Amino acid sequence: MQTHNLGYPRIGSNRELKKASEQYWAGSMTAAQLEQVAKKIREANWQLQKDAGMDLLPVNDFSFYDQVLDTCLMTGAIPDQYHPLIEKEHTAPLDLLFAMARGYQKNGYDLTAMEMTKWFDTNYHYIVPEFKKDQPFTLFNNKVIDQFNEAKKAGFNSKPVLLGPVSFLLLGKEKEEGFDRLDLLKNLLPVYMEVLEKLDALGAYYIQIDEPCLALPLSEKAQQSIRTTYTRLCGRFPNLRILLANYFDCFGANLETVLSLPVHTLHLDLVRCPSQLDDVLDAPGFINGRTQLSLGVVDGRNIWKNDFEQSLLLIQKAMDAIGSDRIWIAPSCSLLHVPCDLDLETDEKNLPDAIRQWLSFAKQKLAEVASLRQIATNPQAAHSKTLLEENARCIEARKTSSLIHNPQVKSRVTAITDADAERNSPFPIRKVQQQELGLPLFPTTTIGSFPQTKEVRQWRAQWKKQQLSDADYLQLVKDATRNAIQWQEEIGLDVLVHGEFERNDMVEYFGEQLAGFAFTKNGWVQSYGSRCVKPPVIYGDVYRPQPMTVEWSAYAQSLTHKPVKGMLTGPVTILQWSFVRDDQPRSVTCNQIALAIRDEVTDLEKAGIKIIQIDEPAIREGLPLRKEQQQAYLTWAVTAFRIAAAGVQDQTQIHTHMCYSEFNDIIHAIAAMDADVITIETSRSQMELLDAFALFEYPNDIGPGVYDIHSPRVPSKDEMVALLEKALYSIPAERLWVNPDCGLKTRAWEETTEALKAMIQAAKALRKKI
Ligand code: GLN
Ligand code: ZN
Repeated sequence: MQTHNLGYPRIGSNRELKKASEQYWAGSMTAAQLEQVAKKIREANWQLQKDAGMDLLPVNDFSFYDQVLDTCLMTGAIPDQYHPLIEKEHTAPLDLLFAMARGYQKNGYDLTAMEMTKWFDTNYHYIVPEFKKDQPFTLFNNKVIDQFNEAKKAGFNSKPVLLGPVSFLLLGKEKEEGFDRLDLLKNLLPVYMEVLEKLDALGAYYIQIDEPCLALPLSEKAQQSIRTTYTRLCGRFPNLRILLANYFDCFGANLETVLSLPVHTLHLDLVRCPSQLDDVLDAPGFINGRTQLSLGVVDGRNIWKNDFEQSLLLIQKAMDAIGSDRIWIAPSCSLLHVPCDLDLETDEKNLPDAIRQWLSFAKQKLAEVASLRQIATNPQAAHSKTLLEENARCIEARKTSSLIHNPQVKSRVTAITDADAERNSPFPIRKVQQQELGLPLFPTTTIGSFPQTKEVRQWRAQWKKQQLSDADYLQLVKDATRNAIQWQEEIGLDVLVHGEFERNDMVEYFGEQLAGFAFTKNGWVQSYGSRCVKPPVIYGDVYRPQPMTVEWSAYAQSLTHKPVKGMLTGPVTILQWSFVRDDQPRSVTCNQIALAIRDEVTDLEKAGIKIIQIDEPAIREGLPLRKEQQQAYLTWAVTAFRIAAAGVQDQTQIHTHMCYSEFNDIIHAIAAMDADVITIETSRSQMELLDAFALFEYPNDIGPGVYDIHSPRVPSKDEMVALLEKALYSIPAERLWVNPDCGLKTRAWEETTEALKAMIQAAKALRKKI
């Protein structure tokens, strides 16, 4: 029985890669220095994985930005716009990579970055490959070979990891009409052949090829592409042992195809899909065949300690059926999606030991893999018994902890009725009632945050380090809020916001005030490129010990006669951007959060706040990969939002906000949320997104973003008028709002002022035209 890992976090245990990359981009570090940092991270990761007891270590899981982008470079799938950098500028490979990932504005070039999108149902973003008709592929970059050599020289027993050709094609998009990217497989396979040939010659033995698209329903053609690929690769390299990895869900209807492949080993995600072990073992001929199984029993997507007893049931079942020689033990997927090392969480005040003992990060997960092998293969050994007992003790402690279980919260969730998710009256009646807000046609507003300048972040940092007293910090934030209110009145916005100066992050801010949440100091996870997030840990029943935002909103409202929007993060987004309990359904945790937000909403109303926004930017990304589970998710997610929103009177206007999303396939769910107003990101798609709303005859008010907040560029009034006129084809005038795409926290004041003034002028111009 062997142990292996599919991939290790590459940002470094202390985010060394993030810091070094950003220094390199800022010009304060040389390429050679950056390469050196990267090399150190790789070596440290291999050593650590070896020490943790892994027989085979992944190589090529390291990336300066993203493994899909790396695959574009490996196969020479480089969009035309970057070709001058290669041909004329002789740009170094590293800079070409960053140009594709981040754009390039130098030497008279103004190249945009390639598109980025979410990696399956994770919060990791990959660069979307672009393909044209007759796309040529050549072996352009030797990273995998170089890194294999590097590991070999350093004496590590390694297993190169590649993104499989079929998933690579499916994850990309066609930049021209009239072809199907799967037809490019015949041009692409020779590059994979060349890579494998080189690795074979260098003495590689095992190769891991990831085909995560196998977790999605695949067309017959895509399944045929899988068959062609692996029949040909395995036939051509009889000495290489190919491990085909799928994760994040079951093979589902692709199982038969997968079982027919001549690959050496199949990796199964038994955390997301424990039942597929039976499916595989029961498949005709499997038991008497030779295919090996990699059992992904340790959760690569969450931070809970593995329950050895549960995992051993699966391992034992497999051992009984095919013997331990055909079995591998592994995490369920690459550990990219969990923080590096729990040992770095040394602050007992921040993360109490009582909670810490339930957790396991990447390094600890590998130790679990090794322990599971030890226990499975030597059950009688004293060491095995100790490991098992120790684990059982932690699991039991978590199951029965009073920190987790709160009977009042549980009974309140059980007592939720349909009526709790219903406003008093349907939207048309509410719309009339809300006229008392006295808003003009095309009301102008913003999404919540105003510039989080260096200053603001410094106050918070100093306050956290106790260099600034509570009173001084509060005063500074209050002043910023008052200035923001005055400034909004001056520029003439209709619905004001308090500016969110007191918030670090839209989820963390609420998590810190809710019971049932814990925080790490160093639990960073890569989101994209150098950007990392530190998701809170929801470990227990969630409730709201006291109001969270009421004072700020009430203070802001006391300074003006115009309505100030209360600003909350919705239950689904809080859930989605946290590490979530695995001891109860996500929907139950979501309802607990929904009730806490509902209490906040009604308290805001009592405090005189007439408009309340509940942000749900993450509702789309929670959508399960498998179609058959999607409706159930949307039903509970929408209900949770409605529970959060429905405690108010008809006169109180509920807004929601969404961004980074395609909405077409969930428009019915968005409508079912029944917010009085929804503001959405649309400007970069030139309002095209609104077609879905128009087609569906979305009934409530909409504020399509009229300008992109990701760029410092100030849009002109005319440009926004044009966008709004376009929007009027989809939305009647009396239901159209005017606002930017998203919050303005990443912008500077100067451009924010200019842009919002122009936006207000645009709304005025439109009012005149009507
Ligand atoms: N209210 C939040 C803000 O303005 C919304 C952020 C988001 O949608 N991501 O910052
Ligand atoms: Zn947004």
